[in-house]
Amino acid sequence: MNVLLLGGGGREHAMAWRLSESMLCKQLFVAPGNAGTSEYATNLDLNPNDFPAVKDAVLTNNVSLVICGPEEPLVRGIKDFFKKDADLADIRFIGPDAEAAQLEGSKAYAKEFMAEFDIPTAGYRRFNAASLEEGLEYLHNSATPIVLKADGLAAGKGVVILNDCGEAKEELKAMLGGKFGEAGSEVVVEDFLDGIEFSVFVITDGENYRILPVAKDYKRIGVGDTGPNTGGMGSVSHPPFVDADMMAKVEQRIVKPTLEGIQKRNLDYKGFIFIGLISVDNEPYVIEYNCRMGDPETQSVMARLSSDFLQLCLETADGELGQAVVEFDERQAATIVLVSGGYPGPYEKGKVILGIEDVEGSMVFHAGTKLDENGSLVTNGGRVLAVTSYGVTFEDALALSYENAKKINFAGCNYRGDIGFDL
Ligand code: ATP
Repeated sequence: MNVLLLGGGGREHAMAWRLSESMLCKQLFVAPGNAGTSEYATNLDLNPNDFPAVKDAVLTNNVSLVICGPEEPLVRGIKDFFKKDADLADIRFIGPDAEAAQLEGSKAYAKEFMAEFDIPTAGYRRFNAASLEEGLEYLHNSATPIVLKADGLAAGKGVVILNDCGEAKEELKAMLGGKFGEAGSEVVVEDFLDGIEFSVFVITDGENYRILPVAKDYKRIGVGDTGPNTGGMGSVSHPPFVDADMMAKVEQRIVKPTLEGIQKRNLDYKGFIFIGLISVDNEPYVIEYNCRMGDPETQSVMARLSSDFLQLCLETADGELGQAVVEFDERQAATIVLVSGGYPGPYEKGKVILGIEDVEGSMVFHAGTKLDENGSLVTNGGRVLAVTSYGVTFEDALALSYENAKKINFAGCNYRGDIGFDL
């Protein structure tokens, strides 16, 4: 069958690698893709948020399954667009509809959902411009640190953790005053949870589910997880502190009630649920839901998924996940992300990338790359490449990723030297 994967990051490169390995895959298209996906697939130059253009690509290329990588098209309603269009009625689609994608698209929606279905998460209150005074008083009486979250999508910048009550009040005023535009028209004020974070990925057909390999990512630019947030600087799967006891708690207290909630609310959810968790004194709490896979966790997770990924997607789309057998590679996987100098602030593009051909024993997933007019591979984004390796232990996997990351070079190349430091 012909498959269309939407997106163009390292996550999509890793998914394209696994999809292309499937005997069921006749032709794979990635839109827009990157220089790496073009090794496995035909890249289509279109924006996944342009739904009519996606429809054209589906019909022109005889696509029968669409997998949505990023969240934005889902939150904007691409699944709803597919459901409403008679020409697309037979096309299988991986990703929730807009209402279900609110689990990621609205932090207030996610918190209400967790409260209703008794899913452990930080205590919270919601405020908008009309309840600003109440919010300021609430902050006045709250312990610090305190967490302020713009309700809507804010590209990873909408969450602020403050140690000072006065600063928290100023931040609330700024958020409700339009600092994050419409995304901040409502603010969730949340208790601070002190613990270690990890990510659990679930694939569901809305009724049945399978838990994919667990991962931990490293969001900040600086050593020791300091400095500004990024899209993600590295990941490890399986983080050793997430033992069988912790996973049993996650499944019982979080995954099952989340699925029950999805069913009780009658949400149209066939796709991935990425549950951002924090372990506080060995008890799991939900930090956030995302309605798609994570990046750069997917690079490590796909490395460890040994079942046929395309078959798993088909079973999901067809509501047959109950019969699916999901197998994992017992080896550990670790990913190091190479970024442009200056990222996550301003950075230059178009730097020639050298040394990928010298990499041995690791996979190199592309994100911000392209082939320039001379056919040279050049940088084209903040996060440029991800180097993923296997190892018997995660330390072995990391050591191999670092050894190979050193061989790659472009002007300004930067990566964190301490991924896995806290494990
Ligand atoms: P955006 O919507 O702007 O893209 P996001 O979805 O990444 O942001 P969250 O995942 O909710 O936002 O929060 C970002 C980070 O802030 C988390 O990974 C975690 O490190 C920290 N954080 C969020 N909530 C809490 C909390 N209650 N206690 C402690 N840390 C938190």
